[in-house]
Amino acid sequence: MPDGSYLYCDVSLPIPLDQPFTYALPETLRHRVKTGCRVLVPFGNRRLTGVTLRCHDDAPEVATREALRLIDAEPVLDAELLALGKWIAGYYCAPLGEVLRGMLPLAAEIRRGKVYSLTDAGRDAARQLLFDSSPEDPTVQILRMLDQRPLSAAYLERKLPLAANALRALERKHFVFAEQVQTERDPLRASSERLRVERTGVAPAGKLAKPERELLAFLELHPGSHNLKELESMVRDASPAARALARKKLVALRVEPPAILAGPVRAPHVLNAAQAAAFAQIREAIAAREFRTFLLHGVTGSGKTEVYLNAIDAALAGGRSALLLVPEIALTPAVAGQFFSRFGDRVAILHSAFSDSERSDQWRRIRSGAAPVVVGTRSGVFAPIRDLGLIVVDEEHDQSYKQEETPRYNGRDVAIVRAQGAGACVVLGSATPSLESRYNAERGKYTLLELPNRIEERPMPQVELIDMRVEFLETRKQATFSRGLVEAIEHRLDNGEQTIVLLNRRGFSSFVACRACGERVQCANCSVTLTFHRRDRRLLCHYCNYAERVPTHCPKCQSEHIYFLGVGSEKVEDELHRDFPKARIARLDRDTATAKRQYEAILQGFREGSYDILVGTQMIAKGHDIPNVTLVGVVSADVGLGLPDFRAAERTFQLLTQVAGRAGRGSLPGIVLIQTINPDHYAVRMAAAQDYQSFYEKELQFRRMMHYPPFSAMANILVRSEQQERAMRMSTELGHFLMPPPEKIKILGPAEAPVTRLKNEYRYQFLIKAASRKALNELLRRAQEFAREQKWNATALVIDVDPLTLL
Ligand code: ADP
Ligand code: ZN
Ligand code: ZN
Repeated sequence: MPDGSYLYCDVSLPIPLDQPFTYALPETLRHRVKTGCRVLVPFGNRRLTGVTLRCHDDAPEVATREALRLIDAEPVLDAELLALGKWIAGYYCAPLGEVLRGMLPLAAEIRRGKVYSLTDAGRDAARQLLFDSSPEDPTVQILRMLDQRPLSAAYLERKLPLAANALRALERKHFVFAEQVQTERDPLRASSERLRVERTGVAPAGKLAKPERELLAFLELHPGSHNLKELESMVRDASPAARALARKKLVALRVEPPAILAGPVRAPHVLNAAQAAAFAQIREAIAAREFRTFLLHGVTGSGKTEVYLNAIDAALAGGRSALLLVPEIALTPAVAGQFFSRFGDRVAILHSAFSDSERSDQWRRIRSGAAPVVVGTRSGVFAPIRDLGLIVVDEEHDQSYKQEETPRYNGRDVAIVRAQGAGACVVLGSATPSLESRYNAERGKYTLLELPNRIEERPMPQVELIDMRVEFLETRKQATFSRGLVEAIEHRLDNGEQTIVLLNRRGFSSFVACRACGERVQCANCSVTLTFHRRDRRLLCHYCNYAERVPTHCPKCQSEHIYFLGVGSEKVEDELHRDFPKARIARLDRDTATAKRQYEAILQGFREGSYDILVGTQMIAKGHDIPNVTLVGVVSADVGLGLPDFRAAERTFQLLTQVAGRAGRGSLPGIVLIQTINPDHYAVRMAAAQDYQSFYEKELQFRRMMHYPPFSAMANILVRSEQQERAMRMSTELGHFLMPPPEKIKILGPAEAPVTRLKNEYRYQFLIKAASRKALNELLRRAQEFAREQKWNATALVIDVDPLTLL
């Protein structure tokens, strides 16, 4: 955009109203505001940070207010990302301002950096107070301090113990306003463990303190970069000296990537024939600089990662950048390690376990071009990468690519649109591609690349189904583990091999019921049963985290005959301890791994052989490559099959195939035992046979018959309210408004959502299936329009385009 001077700017604000607002630019901002920069503007009686969409001189018809402040000197969103944001807003029917806010990397950081200033009224009040007589009053003190200059919330709270309350009171009176500001990352503030020190070429001018001279002398003798913590043990006062020298620009301080990124260094493999053939096609498309989407369908253990690495090399060789998207949970040290050993400090990682400032560091490295290889989870698709040549989406079928709050985008699909805008290639990789992607490949929209065999002709694991109904008839016991599984685990323990045990359900027992009246204990906020978590001795809601004590009496009939039904991962762990007292057992689910680092520590321990058995939920099924695992046991294949969701079969197939794929990845062959009471269900049967093709064909028939995706464009409209009657009435009215639907559109509903009450709200839903995307989008727009006209609460209507779950 040419540098210019403009009188007005149009700003998109993070509010549910889907339209930009025009602001006048004060003299001081006219030259500085550019498209894609954030600005602080007044809105009603609030101040909001928005993104500038356009600068211009077209005087609006109505009087405009003035923008208050420019937040970024350079645009945070370039033209390409702005265009992508507009596409997302259109496709997913989400307000642009909210989409753009989600694309900004520093949202969290901005939210934290709160700075208070006085309003004009506040300034008047402060001046008046000069004559006031209660100087100890914290509100008075704050007004006086702010009259000097704006101050951060953190600073005020340090100075005055009661600042938080006082600030709230002042805000209510409109004497002060809070502003979210971007604080630059300052390496000088990082702790010594995280800092590396290196000499710069600059020769010292003036006088230096003794520790500074000593440190420089040490660095002279030992060139290269040093960890500051380690230096402290060798040079006296190394830390203050390094910081002082950094201010004088005599040494450079760099924040070290977190330890999480350290991983095993591996030499690149020579590609086998299938890998080489797949890579050749990708390389050609990258070289031709054309937009093209590949579906890399490779069985578990076929070496997809090596193909990604080569493709990224090819993009870099052409002077372009590459982005690898991974599901939230798959970003393990093993994956990150491979990228580091291959691309060194050209890699930037966008990881949710990082602190805000670490993330903004990474973001700046990407934008400056210093890190042309970016690895990230879902929102990594918005990284400010220049000259993008390739996007790889690993485990493209994974549900975590879908954001389950506004904007409800799917990172995989956004990646494809972004690549199209950039003229880049996309590689979607999976052993169990989503039906949509596989269908797109069949129709020629994507190019199918196949890796049909495991690396080094390792056999696929041998899978056996264990019919738990037969097991019960033969043993007359309702056991968690079949005899076959127990025996197989014993065998692994004897041989020093490792076992993975999967149960796709957290907690100890799945619900608590009363033997006398049949009552099941339910969540206070949701229409779901509570799950017993024994370690915490609590009943927990898996939807809203509501918790209560285990009742001693039935809440309904007061009987004492409370009992626990169903099995969760916690109970499986318990029973394994009982049955195999000598085994070293670790459990991995959302209860044991609340933080990413815990998650990685457990996996790392298992990989290093500190545990014999790893028990867990679907978290353990994803992508891990642990060679010593020769047995995978699935306690129950049936957990997900009964869910009222048309993707239930697909999800079960994916989960079973993926977890089976964890066995036999090393030189030892693996076996998989799947316990089920549905051995004839096609998803279970075909996962056992690891027969993707047959599953795909069978499932596709079902989808075609039922007009489910990929044979229709689908959306879920949810109407919610805390009052059931209201929710019901609103959904009925919306139903009347939408009926009859245009040709080519089917509307199912309104009906109670499968989880009718969630987090205290009653929910009714419409499922929309449309033969055309355009017609679907128009219908959804009409629904939004209706909600606006009826003055519904902004959160009463939820639109989910391409929903992945219907719960
Ligand atoms: P996938 O992601 O397809 O399940 P991985 O990429 O994890 O498979 O590869 C499985 C294993 O095979 C890894 O240990 C990897 O290092 C190894 N591997 C990949 N390609 C080759 C190759 N060409 N030669 C030898 N080993 C390879
Ligand atoms: Zn009862
Ligand atoms: Zn709940």
